[in-house]
Amino acid sequence: MLGTGAWSLVPPGSDDFTVYGGADTVERAREWALQQQVLLYRGPAQTCVHGLYRMDSCTFPACTSVGMDHTRIWVQHDGRGAFLLTHPYEDEVPQSLRVYADMHGLTVDSYPFDGWYGHGTLPIRLTIPSSWPLWPIERDAAVLLHTQPVTWPADDE
Ligand SMILES: [Zn+2]
Repeated sequence: MLGTGAWSLVPPGSDDFTVYGGADTVERAREWALQQQVLLYRGPAQTCVHGLYRMDSCTFPACTSVGMDHTRIWVQHDGRGAFLLTHPYEDEVPQSLRVYADMHGLTVDSYPFDGWYGHGTLPIRLTIPSSWPLWPIERDAAVLLHTQPVTWPADDE
């Protein structure tokens, strides 16, 4: 686990890696995170856009009422990119979630390969567009990864 205590980025190979769900779910998430080379953000506002802003807390009721479920923030291996991944019990992306993403300048995508939660949920990514200047979570992640680099299995080949 990388971090200062207040927040951290958890590599999928870490003993501290866990997500909401049973052991099977955690294992699917771990394999997915290894393939995607993403780190799990753990810290304040870790289930909504305010974690991407690195705010100390989230007090916005909207974040819990836009139709997200089982939500976590994932950061790219190099810190250049981060997204919310949510798995609500839906057949299509809720309109309320599209509005929420638009309000914050995030793009919305649904990729079957993000569907490790399963159980009839729809995987939805809310991603910081690459055209943006660095968001706070990217800035903080870049600093952390510079001082505490993560080795990925593919790096050893
Ligand atoms: Zn929030």
